[in-house]
Amino acid sequence: MKEIKELLSLKSKILITTHVNPDGDAIGSSLALYNFLIKMGHDVTVVVPNDYPDFLRWMKSDEKVINFSENSDDVEKLLNKTDIIFCLDFNNLKRINELGDLIQLSNAKKVLIDHHLNPDNFYDYKYHNVDASATAELVYDLISFIDDGLIDKDISDCIYTGILTDTGSFRFASTSSKVHRIVADLLDKGVRSDRVGKIIYESNSFDKLKLLGYSLSKKLEIICDGRAAYIVLSRKDLLDNNYRKGDTEGIVNYALSIAGVNMATLIIETKERVKFSFRSSGDFSVNHFANLYFNGGGHKNAAGGSLEDKLSVALEKFLESISKHKKELNY
Ligand code: 5GP
Ligand code: MN
Repeated sequence: MKEIKELLSLKSKILITTHVNPDGDAIGSSLALYNFLIKMGHDVTVVVPNDYPDFLRWMKSDEKVINFSENSDDVEKLLNKTDIIFCLDFNNLKRINELGDLIQLSNAKKVLIDHHLNPDNFYDYKYHNVDASATAELVYDLISFIDDGLIDKDISDCIYTGILTDTGSFRFASTSSKVHRIVADLLDKGVRSDRVGKIIYESNSFDKLKLLGYSLSKKLEIICDGRAAYIVLSRKDLLDNNYRKGDTEGIVNYALSIAGVNMATLIIETKERVKFSFRSSGDFSVNHFANLYFNGGGHKNAAGGSLEDKLSVALEKFLESISKHKKELNY
């Protein structure tokens, strides 16, 4: 943190980026850092690899975020003039698609702030801790260290959103007493937990809820003697339910909520590939599982991956892989 503080002692052109399909922690930590660095007097831009859901589009300066998939030429020009790149909530440049290639080539100083396992070595500075509940927690540590007087309600809202979403509303094992102390400070700075909760969790569209209903009533399967559950959604399932970005978020947790189920998977057929979301309770590491069979990673209890196969082939591969680990699905 001392070195990063020193790096920021000169006014700089800074680019902040985060992982593909940005979630609450990705956007919350990026905008928290953005608003803080702007207050310090830096020239800052947030670039996301692709779009994110509406329930995350309310934090301060959201309208300034640039979507790389729609503005790649502008971002390439911007990168040529950038002094410092902050990489938040991911640790491998492959996680940000083509934007990763541009960042790899850039001469800017690269700062990694992240809490995922096994960081790839592409950075000049790193603030990384796998025990952190969210990247937003690490951003809070860092900006408090640099100048805690600058943390206002808007920045607090961003950090709160990152921590709220990445801890599953303060339920996951990563929710330490420190997390609660940070949140206490954020509430003192004006965060309204009822309002943030309403925006994040109770702003479902009718279609999103119908898709959830369809997934649970028609597509939920239990395997491995009741220890695992999965849901497969084909492209057609999504289109039939007027799918919009973010609509499948949270579905996997319903599968994990079944008594006795310690591993849940959501399998989604996208245009390019088949995407897997894995969740577990207890000791079974879905990070390891995702890494072993699905070109993926993440955290011990929440990970993802993908296969470039037909949906039926990808499903077969999943069923075969999980059956090998049946005995490990304990809690
Ligand atoms: P989700 O299932 O919500 O997409 O992702 C769960 C966790 O796994 C997140 O922390 C996310 O960053 C990580 N993750 C998701 N997909 C991938 C992937 O394809 N590769 C890697 N390395 N991590 C992933
Ligand atoms: Mn995160």
